[in-house]
Formats: sequence, C-alpha cells, structure tokens
Amino acid sequence: MCNACAYEHGFQQRCQRIAQRDQQIGESAMARLMATGRFRSDEVRCEVRNAEVVLRGRVATWYHKQVAQHAVLEIANVVSLRNLLEVGPPSSSN
Ligand SMILES: [Zn+2]
Repeated sequence: MCNACAYEHGFQQRCQRIAQRDQQIGESAMARLMATGRFRSDEVRCEVRNAEVVLRGRVATWYHKQVAQHAVLEIANVVSLRNLLEVGPPSSSN
C-alpha cells in the first residue's frame, strides 16, 4: 500500500498524490521566485521529485542564489533543496 495516498496503485506507477503535490510545490516555488522581482522565469527553474526541490539555471550573483534558496525553503512541504544555480553572466555574452 502506498504511504502517501493509501491506495494500491502498484510499485511501478507514480503516485498521483505525490505527483500533484510536487507540481504544487513547483508552482509555489516559481511564484515565490518571481515575487522577489529578482529573477526571470527563463533564468531559473525548479524540478520537484517527491518533495525534493532542485533549483537550476543561472543567476547574476551569489546573493541572488541565496535569495532563491530562501524563497523556496519557505514553502511548506519541501523536504530538501539542492541549489544548483550557477552564478555568473549568461554564457552567450562572453
Ligand atoms: Zn500513492
């Protein structure tokens, strides 16, 4: 039996409740990042798997990276966060 939703949906099948929660976490994370006014939606992205968030993309400074991390960690139900944001100017403007 699934711990998350208490249904017998099988080991191979992705739990719908977990998938739904992950999607909500991802949407909340992006909303919070955008609410800071410091990021563009094409610069950063959030991948969520079983309430574990991975931040990817590129930001201008270490400060921005910290701001992003704090914004995401404020979201309920996030169990862990890997901040893989890269810091620096876009590689296209070298
Ligand atoms: Zn389930």
